[in-house]
Amino acid sequence: MANRIVLRGGRVLDAKTRFDAVADVVISGGIVEDIVDEYEVGAGDDVIDASGKWVIPGHIDAHAHFAGTSDFGFDSVIGLKQLARAGVTTAIDLGGSMDTLYDAVRRGGTGINMASLMRITPSANISSAEPDRAELDQVLTDGLATGSIGAKMWGGYDPLTPEGTARVIEACNTLGTHVAFHVGTTETGSRLDGLREVPEILGANGRLHIAHINAYCRGSILEPHEEVIEALQIIEELGPRVVSEVHMAVPNFTRGECAPDGSIVNDVPRNCLRLRDYEANIDGMRAAIRDGYGSVVMLVNDRLDLVSGAAGLAEFDRLKSMTPMSFPVNLPSTAFALTAAKDGEGKFVVDAVASDGGILPRNVNIEQTIAMVKFGALEPLEAVAKLSYNPARMFGLTNKGRLESGADADITVVNPQTGGATDTVVGGKVVLRDGYIVSSGGTIFTTDRGKIAAANSGIPYEIIEPLQGLMYSRVSDPS
Ligand SMILES: [Zn+2]
Repeated sequence: MANRIVLRGGRVLDAKTRFDAVADVVISGGIVEDIVDEYEVGAGDDVIDASGKWVIPGHIDAHAHFAGTSDFGFDSVIGLKQLARAGVTTAIDLGGSMDTLYDAVRRGGTGINMASLMRITPSANISSAEPDRAELDQVLTDGLATGSIGAKMWGGYDPLTPEGTARVIEACNTLGTHVAFHVGTTETGSRLDGLREVPEILGANGRLHIAHINAYCRGSILEPHEEVIEALQIIEELGPRVVSEVHMAVPNFTRGECAPDGSIVNDVPRNCLRLRDYEANIDGMRAAIRDGYGSVVMLVNDRLDLVSGAAGLAEFDRLKSMTPMSFPVNLPSTAFALTAAKDGEGKFVVDAVASDGGILPRNVNIEQTIAMVKFGALEPLEAVAKLSYNPARMFGLTNKGRLESGADADITVVNPQTGGATDTVVGGKVVLRDGYIVSSGGTIFTTDRGKIAAANSGIPYEIIEPLQGLMYSRVSDPS
């Protein structure tokens, strides 16, 4: 009999079965073998003391960035490390490149599961903001063949027209791939007006993952709390055809890029500056950094950090504005309200908590969600649904996100006092032990269309079926 891993004496929480009790979790052969009151440890078993901790199904980060980071100039391996340290067992890159991902896993994989959505952007891989269907089908088919599990549009950066956006969603829906949208088109912005446009773009049958709802409730159009109410109405009315998430970090992540005439290239940083009455140009950007409102994201001692003041400004000038930037624009009250909100039947309106982090230093999903439990806004099992069960269902990861006999042995052990992850097990192997990464490599999730590329990468892979994801499979009962 193979040696087992035993997570001993923790509070085991499973949202699917509503199990909540102190128990031992016994892992063998990559799956959860049993959950028992007290397991009799055998010689050679690897026992991890989980007493005083929460033992939850492995946290799935449904919106991260770690394989498309060449734009920002940071090594994807940093992202894989930051995710593993944060207790993530599966991370989905919303807009990555499979070549970047394969390379990063070979050089510095941390043992977690990974998948990626290809980016669909006029500035990179489509010929205009209103591509025709034949072009889209080709781009999507090619991207799926590299191993991507679907597509992501970045409306706040490279918007398509409303018609072009609708066409991308339709093409993805027809192919049966995952499709995610950072809202905003050539007619709207990365704001509430972009979200207001979604029902018409989706039409009667469209299916969509709407990224980070809270990012459209920063008070650009109405008061933030009014934007929250309207956003929830929009999501609720779209019903089972959409999935969504909220991120919990106050700092956002964006790009500083300015044009030679001093104008700011992207919509998101312009909005950030206007929110605090800075001029939306390079002078306003420099003033914001000097004042400490804007920060440049810099590599400091092997971790990414936010730097403002004179040091931040020097870096911004040195890189001639081509630097990743951050502004503290995500309102905690907004993230809180959107995460806690339930519909008339008592079901969550927004499915998951996700970081929009990875390479970005904002991997705070678990600690912030547990903070909401401490506050009394979520039950412990609800926190587990937001962190593990729901994101697993969003991507059709049918054997993950739950903790019961026969489930994949992807598990996160959390210190409920700090909200920090102490240990993780992924596919039956210890990845994080006492806060230190002790694994390498990892597993790629791809679709049937990507299996040749995944096999050629030499990295272990599993085939998933996006049609099992909630946006396609959820009919009327999302509980
Ligand atoms: Zn993102």
